[in-house]
Amino acid sequence: MLQSLPVINQPLDHPLLDEKGIELAIKRLDLVHPELSGNKFFKLKYNLEKAVLDGFEKVLTFGGAFSNHIYATAAGAKALNLSAIGIIRGERIDPLNATLSHAESLGMDLHFVDRATFRLKKEPSFLKSLSEKFGAFYLIPEGGTNELAIKGTAEILQPNDKKYSHIATSIGTGGTFAGIYTSLESSQKLLGFSALRGDFIRKEIDDLLKGFDLSGLGSFEIFSQFHFGGYAKYDQQLVEFIWWFYESFGIILDPIYTGKMLFGIWHLICQNYFPKGSKILVIHSGGLQGNVGFTERTGIKLPSLLR
Ligand SMILES: *Cc1c(COP(=O)(O)O)cnc(C)c1O
Repeated sequence: MLQSLPVINQPLDHPLLDEKGIELAIKRLDLVHPELSGNKFFKLKYNLEKAVLDGFEKVLTFGGAFSNHIYATAAGAKALNLSAIGIIRGERIDPLNATLSHAESLGMDLHFVDRATFRLKKEPSFLKSLSEKFGAFYLIPEGGTNELAIKGTAEILQPNDKKYSHIATSIGTGGTFAGIYTSLESSQKLLGFSALRGDFIRKEIDDLLKGFDLSGLGSFEIFSQFHFGGYAKYDQQLVEFIWWFYESFGIILDPIYTGKMLFGIWHLICQNYFPKGSKILVIHSGGLQGNVGFTERTGIKLPSLLR
């Protein structure tokens, strides 16, 4: 079983919060595990446990070249003595970027496929050809969202989180959002901030909740206007916000998920979205390994765990 470190809710102190009469705390899932951090810890824990219980020696998953999921799967598999195969979209470029070189150093076997092949990631015939090539493996889908992932993310909120009126999380595939939704109190509202452009995310979430027959007591709202042009797109305003947040609170955000979400939350606070007396808990879903790769890719410096 994967061991987690204690997770704290860190309250933020800022004149704007006083002025609006609201409280804001950050749930530091980025500190839950040294290598397998953030929401990925919760998404992977029951999947990796099942792989071990079912006698698999290998897990296989899919991801892009900067994927937090690839990095986390490599770390989680290593922690449980499983071998790991990562099917990576695109060509191998040496030297590998920080994400992939770290995954490889953790023992993940990286296989690069072109985009058209990568799109076959759910096709039974393609998966069969992979098992002919690699032998039996436990399959974890790209992004890691499945029923066991949602079982894990349903454990993110703890009994003493019942006091919060609003819970906020970033959305990629929606697995984290779905798990948190199932664990809300009736008085709580879940706010989801999509990292992707487009309103299709509402239907994806709907399909996810229906597909896994999930229900919740609380309510939710999805914000799809804080994507900064789309997945992994950014601008100067976002970069400045991430630096401002770090200098104000000492908390590092990533530019793909948590930076955009907190930008959105701060915007909503300014717009008086939150009634006076609101207590907001923001899930820091990790992803900080990607900041090094972001700087490699763009030349733009961000706060990062490495110096
Ligand atoms: C993967 C990831 C997400 C998205 O999680 P989903 O369950 O796919 O919605 C959000 N934040 C970070 C930092 C991530 O790595």
